[in-house]
Amino acid sequence: LSFNSARFLISASRLDECPTDAGAEVAFAGRSNAGKSSALNTITANGKLARTSKTPGRTRLINFFSLNRDNCRLVDLPGYGYARVSRDMKDDWQQHLGQYLIERRCLRGLVLVMDIRHPLTDFDQMMVEWCEHNDLPLMILATKADKLKYGKAKTSMLGIAKALKDHRCVQHLIMFSATSGRGVEECRQALTDWLEA
Ligand code: GDP
Repeated sequence: LSFNSARFLISASRLDECPTDAGAEVAFAGRSNAGKSSALNTITANGKLARTSKTPGRTRLINFFSLNRDNCRLVDLPGYGYARVSRDMKDDWQQHLGQYLIERRCLRGLVLVMDIRHPLTDFDQMMVEWCEHNDLPLMILATKADKLKYGKAKTSMLGIAKALKDHRCVQHLIMFSATSGRGVEECRQALTDWLEA
């Protein structure tokens, strides 16, 4: 798989606007500001890729990117936890996302992007439990590792691993940095394994 051939495909606000449910997809989730867009940009070596997902009006949409192989896609899920969204919008978010996660048959796994300095927020926990409950393979990117000294980053990784040791859904836990490129190859390899399986 060639990740740097990723191209924006379509945005969807509802399940029936998503591309045909065929082939293979991996979806990226994360709390707003965790570093999800930067991670996607680095993985695809395209500094502008996930900008689409950040343009006003698109932040609450599910954005699809196609890869070079037929019917392989990366999916950028709406970031969770915008400070100012109303309760209604949060309900809306949960409903659409929940529906995507539950009903999407071509979904091979979820990548959960978390800030290595503040891992396992309530949102992260919720997503982990959801994957565990629904047998969806999970990859955790503990990103912004460049912001910590290696020892501290390692300690954070061990803390995450320990907290999730009974969760069989966690297939990959990767120390990551969009800035330094740490973990990018490991992540691409894991994505390839999922998408080509
Ligand atoms: P998103 O809301 O989850 O898509 O987060 P962004 O990708 O927009 O990142 C939020 C902020 O964190 C931005 O200011 C990024 O430049 C910064 N950031 C993201 N990833 C990294 C990283 O790996 N290292 C550093 N130092 N900063 C990062």
